[in-house]
Amino acid sequence: GESGLTRRLKSLLPWSTDTDPVSTLIRTHKSIHSDADPGIVRHAYETAERMHRGQMRKSGEPFITHPVAVAAILSDLGMDTVTLVAAMLHDTVEDTSYTIAALESDFGPEVALIVDGLTKFDKLFFGEAAEAETLRKLIIAAGRDVRVLVIKLADRLHNMRTLDARSTKSQQRIATATRDVLVPLCDRLGIQVIKRDLEDCILKALSPSGYALITEYLAQREGWNEYLERARSAFTTELKNGRVDCKITVRPRHLYSIWKDTVAGRHSEPHDLPRLVVQVDGDDMDCYAALGIIHGRWRPVPGRFKDF
Ligand code: MN
Repeated sequence: GESGLTRRLKSLLPWSTDTDPVSTLIRTHKSIHSDADPGIVRHAYETAERMHRGQMRKSGEPFITHPVAVAAILSDLGMDTVTLVAAMLHDTVEDTSYTIAALESDFGPEVALIVDGLTKFDKLFFGEAAEAETLRKLIIAAGRDVRVLVIKLADRLHNMRTLDARSTKSQQRIATATRDVLVPLCDRLGIQVIKRDLEDCILKALSPSGYALITEYLAQREGWNEYLERARSAFTTELKNGRVDCKITVRPRHLYSIWKDTVAGRHSEPHDLPRLVVQVDGDDMDCYAALGIIHGRWRPVPGRFKDF
């Protein structure tokens, strides 16, 4: 077991080594990329931690919590080791004495190119010409490496999640820019997971009352889960009888999408429709069989049925 001294020393660390965010993200990363080298991610963390030491976020937290959170979002997405290393270091060149040359000699040209792309992206995005920025320019700014854009999205997502620490005025400015530039970028890259989260944060900043209304509605509606469970089990029975091998899951909508529907449809109460996803495991014909079975029994709502 551990000696008393080890335990005492560990208790002085800001987090225990079993649950610290860096170990957690490395574990997630290894579970997807089993041959990944965790040492390089740890090394990037230690470098970033040393460079940012003493810097604080607006929330009062140590600055290092930000790059760690960004890297964690990216490890959840299943991104590669180079992306996680670049994410850990993404603000060092802009905000500390660490140079791009030092970064290149410590972590290699691939990581350096991405961090350089991110630094330039920020200048373009937050610079004076930012208003006029187009998606096309952002993509050009990223150079030829799409990982720059993916890190930028994760970076913005964490900043949006922690927007509360800023003034109402900057919250609105940042949320508007996010809505106009980064959400379309999510669409272009097909990263729906980040888009959903970003849109909920945008709603909270731009329409706090709308956000509160939907949150309350979701917490209070009665019989919703029971209804979905009944529908799911009816789907399961029908498809099993039709000998289609598939997985049926409930797919909740995010707050922003419910809010958008409510406003667009001029509903007096929040408007949400239950959603189920049917994932067919088999060849294309099985998909059509599943469609036939389900639409034979339940009439599809025009425009609301999606074939992925
Ligand atoms: Mn950042």
